[in-house]
Parts: sequence; structure tokens; C-alpha cells
Amino acid sequence: MKTTELWDTIVIGGGPAGSASAGLLSKKGQRVLILEKQSFPRFHIGESLLPYGNDVLHELGIWEDLKSMSFMRKLGAEFVLGNSAGSHRFWFGKNLPQQYAQTFQVERAKFDKLLLDKACSLGAHHLENATVEDVLFRDDSVEVTYLHQNERHQAKARYCVDASGRTSVVGRSLQLKKSDLGMPKKIAVFSHFHHVHRNDGEAVGHITIVRIPNGWFWLIPLDAEKTSVGLVQMLTDFKAQDLTPEESFNRTVQTHAELLFRMRNAKKIAPFYTEADYTFRHNRAAGPRWLLAGDAAGFIDPIFSSGVMVALRSGRQAAHTVLAAAVRNRPLSWWECRRYTRKFKQMTNVFYFMIRMFYDRHAFEVFMNPSPLLRLPAAVTNLVAGNTDFSWSLFWRVKIFFLLCRLQRWIPISPSLSYKSTIPSSRLQPSF
Ligand code: FAD
Repeated sequence: MKTTELWDTIVIGGGPAGSASAGLLSKKGQRVLILEKQSFPRFHIGESLLPYGNDVLHELGIWEDLKSMSFMRKLGAEFVLGNSAGSHRFWFGKNLPQQYAQTFQVERAKFDKLLLDKACSLGAHHLENATVEDVLFRDDSVEVTYLHQNERHQAKARYCVDASGRTSVVGRSLQLKKSDLGMPKKIAVFSHFHHVHRNDGEAVGHITIVRIPNGWFWLIPLDAEKTSVGLVQMLTDFKAQDLTPEESFNRTVQTHAELLFRMRNAKKIAPFYTEADYTFRHNRAAGPRWLLAGDAAGFIDPIFSSGVMVALRSGRQAAHTVLAAAVRNRPLSWWECRRYTRKFKQMTNVFYFMIRMFYDRHAFEVFMNPSPLLRLPAAVTNLVAGNTDFSWSLFWRVKIFFLLCRLQRWIPISPSLSYKSTIPSSRLQPSF
């Protein structure tokens, strides 16, 4: 086994969480090594960004690159019923400060490469095709064993940021406790298409979420031609259908008027991918010499596109936490670990409540028709844009929104929505 030199921080994984933390640590003069299992560019799911991740992109210095490349501008989000009987469009610019008025839809292969290159240009070293196998924690350091070009290597550092995504190398190695937050298991099937129907005007870059009785579709315009389309449904419903993921995708498109309309000329240009069973959160996200960032710390249902924003912001928080301890080369204190974990939980809790709201048909009726009183639509737009740090005035309006969502079950505050399909089975079309 070959042992390399001592680093300040080793970052496991070169996705958004890893690149954000490595870039910001390097910017402050740390010697950082990123170990990445794959070779970039590589396909990854998670293509719709949220405006409240913009600050980190600015801090890393890639905002202008994103603007000058062919990424689609995202000015909002829309939610539509599968039978086309109801819809609601959000515009970030209407209710949010200028810096959050837009963000981007991104093909992750290009976006992640841009982020990783940026981290390296800020001074981080990186190794691709380097799979971390084991992490050993000592009082004053961390030893990481990784496989690279069929040889086992060991690297040492004072701190380790685990940004290895849902595989969570450190989480597994320390056998950290995790919770599924009481969320049912789900499965997603998705691909890229050409010739999917686009919205007119400025809404061309909106993400479209099509809500169907037991799940939802996303349609994310990635560039002038390409659209990412995916179906998310409960794992139990999927299994009960006795169909392959592709068959289930095709059948669901054919039985919902809105999807049939948007996909009528669609041509599939990539294979179908599937992801299953993905909600979890570790009870602890930091220890004396380690932190978990992004999906490695926890991941919840992607309905509100929170993943990359949480990865970028937790990656930044991990960097700040390491920097504070590194001044005296000391382990993170109990209090620092607790604060980091609490911040991660606070951020993901907001999405957790939104997700529960989305899957509750009564609450969703309030979301689709938020009362104009008390500037509730502005509060809901903040939530959809990923704002998780509430001012006092936003805090109580968000509380009222969730209260109305609960009351809707007993008192009809917003009009009720029907999910009944309008398509007779005789009109089923051939698949893609
Ligand atoms: P990742 O992006 O997963 O990066 C982890 C990196 O670590 C990878 O490059 C991997 O190769 C590397 N790695 C893993 N193991 C090792 C190892 N042992 N050694 C070295 N390297 C390793 N998010 C959004 O923001 N918007 C969306 O629209 C969205 N849609 C989604 C749809 C679905 C169906 C799913 C499942 C997720 C979606 N997400 C979305 C979530 C998003 O994909 C993730 O939250 C995001 O990629 C997390 O970034 P990360 O950096 O934490 O992890």
C-alpha cells in the first residue's frame, strides 16, 4: 500500500457538495484532496436548481460561467394536474430579491464538471477513478484507503468531508444511525427527450411538475432541444402494476391528458434510468474529524428540487466548520458538531414539511390556490425557491400556510381538485 502526503482536508466525492466544500476550503489556503470514484463528465440525476443555492455559486465564482454556457434560465416552477384540470405557476422574480429571481436547469454531467474544475482552479487537488474503501479516525487525523488504478493507497488528513452521495462512505464505516423520516419508499424512472412541448415566453425554462393520483412527473427543459422527463411513484404501487419501469412510464404518460399533450411528439434520446428507495437522514452529520455534506448526510424526495441546493449549502457550511477548527488544528467541538447537524436538519425539515404537504391531497389544494391574504403566495414562492432561513415576517406567514393546509381537510378553504383521468383506455398510444 502506498501512503501519500498529509493533507489538511480530504473530500470524498466530487459532486456539488464535494466541489463546493473543496473549492471554498482551497480558497482559504487549505491543502485539499478530492477523491472521486468516477471519471467526469458523468451522468447524474438532479437537474433543476433552486435560487437559494445561487449564493454558493457566486462565492465559488461560477455564476458568470453558467450564464455564458448553454444552460437554460429557470425563472420559476409550475404545478399542473395530470388531467389538465388545474395549474399554478410560480415566478421567483415576483416575490424574491433580485439575486434569487432566476437560477438554472443544468445537465449534471456539464455542471458537475464545471464545479469540480472550479474547485481545482481554486487550488484543490483531485484524483478521478479513485474509490474510497475505508476511513479510519485517529485523535489527530483521518486515514483514507482508496483504490486507484488497481492499487490500494492511503492518504492522511486532519479532517475529512464525506460528500460521497447516498453511498455515504463515512456513514457506513461508522455505522451511523439513520431514519427514513416516515416517508414511503419510492421509485423514479427517467430519461432525456427531444421535441417535448415547451411553455411559451419567459416560462420556457420553468420546471413543470405534473401531479397524478399516486405520484408525479417532472419535465425539465435542459437546453433548446433536450428535456429531462421522469416519473416518481410509490414503490408499492409500482410493484402492484407488474410492469417494467419503462412500461410503467409509458403507460402513465398515455393515461394522463397533460402528459399525452406535452409528450405527443417526444423522441427518447437516452436510455431509461431508475432510482429507488431514496429517503433517509443521518441522526448525526459531524464528528471530531469528519462531516457529512449533501446526500451523504441525508436525502429526501426530490419533488421540490432541493438536492443540489442542500449539497451546495451544506458543502459551504462544512468548509466553514472545518476552517474554524483548523486554525488551532483541533478536533471539532461537541458544540460545533451539534450546530452543523442542527443546521442540516433545519434546512431539510423545511422541505420535509413541503413534501408532506405535496402528497396530502387536501394540503396540495391550498398550495395550488394560496389565499392572496397576508401575502401568502409570496411566502409559498419563498418555499418553492428553497428559502429555509426565515425572517420573522416570513416565519409566521409560512406557519399560517401550513395551518391552512391542515385545516383544508375539514374546512374547504381552497377549491377542491379532481384527479380523474379524462382519457378512455381505447385512446392508448404506442410507446416511445
Ligand atoms: P452526488 O451528486 O451524488 O455526488 C457524490 C459523488 O461521490 C459522486 O460523483 C460519486 O461518484 C462519488 N462517490 C461515491 N462513492 C464514492 C467513493 N467510495 N469514493 C469516491 N467517490 C465516491 N436535486 C436537485 O437539486 N434538483 C432536482 O431536480 C433533483 N432531481 C432528482 C431526481 C431524482 C429521481 C433523484 C434520486 C434525485 C434528484 N435530485 C435533485 C437530488 C440530487 O441528485 C442530489 O441531491 C445531489 O446530486 C447531491 O449532490 P452530492 O454532491 O451530495 O452527491
